[in-house]
Amino acid sequence: MGLRTNLFVAAALAVAAVPIAPTPVAAAEPPGQITIIYDAFGTDMAMKKDWGYSALVEISGKRILFDTGNDPDIFAANIKAKHIDLTSIDFVVLSHRHSDHMAGLNHVLSVNPTVKIYAPREGFGIYGSSLPSSFYRKDESLPSEMRYYDGKPPEVMKFGTAWQRANIEPIDKTTEIAPGITLIALVSDAPGTRELKELSLAVNTADGVVLVVGCAHPGIEKIVEAATAINPRIRLIAGGFHLVVAPDEVIAKAVSALKDTFKVENIAPGHCTGEPTFAALKRAYGDRYLYAGVGTSLPLGPSMSSVGRRGEGPSLQEDDLAAYRKLAQREDPFGIRKARNLRSHL
Ligand SMILES: [Zn+2]
Ligand SMILES: [Zn+2]
Repeated sequence: MGLRTNLFVAAALAVAAVPIAPTPVAAAEPPGQITIIYDAFGTDMAMKKDWGYSALVEISGKRILFDTGNDPDIFAANIKAKHIDLTSIDFVVLSHRHSDHMAGLNHVLSVNPTVKIYAPREGFGIYGSSLPSSFYRKDESLPSEMRYYDGKPPEVMKFGTAWQRANIEPIDKTTEIAPGITLIALVSDAPGTRELKELSLAVNTADGVVLVVGCAHPGIEKIVEAATAINPRIRLIAGGFHLVVAPDEVIAKAVSALKDTFKVENIAPGHCTGEPTFAALKRAYGDRYLYAGVGTSLPLGPSMSSVGRRGEGPSLQEDDLAAYRKLAQREDPFGIRKARNLRSHL
């Protein structure tokens, strides 16, 4: 072949290689992986174990640091042990304000001070926030020295952050931050963490949603339902499911919801999922339970989804399930029932 023919062939191949990606799915890229940087269990002797969570999510051409662990020194040591270059990450997601998820942020900022950080927007929270000054009641009859800002408040009042110079973007509601990459924003209504806002990372791939959760304080089922609004097919959930003190019946319902209701294909629980929940999920998922201790890298190749579903029976009886679904349908504060209807129509 002459040079001209070669060029022609190369041009034709280049045209053929242009991906025709459906818009909601992140562009086709190398399969990627999730590496657990921080957790209190694992088999990798090079990694230090401690309570907390952090994972490097390499997916859809992006390198995303999800949470930063509980202790900056242990976080830094584990980052070093895995030879992770924090200067080349695309962005950080801080799931919520609990210290076992954000204490390593100072280490991240010491290496990469300008990195974009997504964090939940909370009024007067540590990630900083703002409010229109119209929020407070005024009294025009007061002399100016008794009035806030001498009676002339700025239009927007800004409230400080614990990381003054950090490039933090507060996220208020579920937002697609890059093509196919969504931060699900939900609020906990559980005693002890009521009003705590938490972000979960949902990446839509050609094989379904890869969902990474920090502590799942709003409830793992609510988070998964919100993810099904993006794509009813949930390929993998990794992270903490917050069932660490849950009684057996609550664990059974959660496992049933994940496996039978949402048909979550693979599960890689860690952190605050809890030892009895690890056991229950392992029983329910068999070889679709992906061990994810600190130091583990979970490949996100097509093989993960190509294995046929195993033949285990449902983990709850059908009438239990019906009662449970009825209970779960009582309210629809986050558009979850809408998502379920959408899913059942598909
Ligand atoms: Zn936690
Ligand atoms: Zn937490």
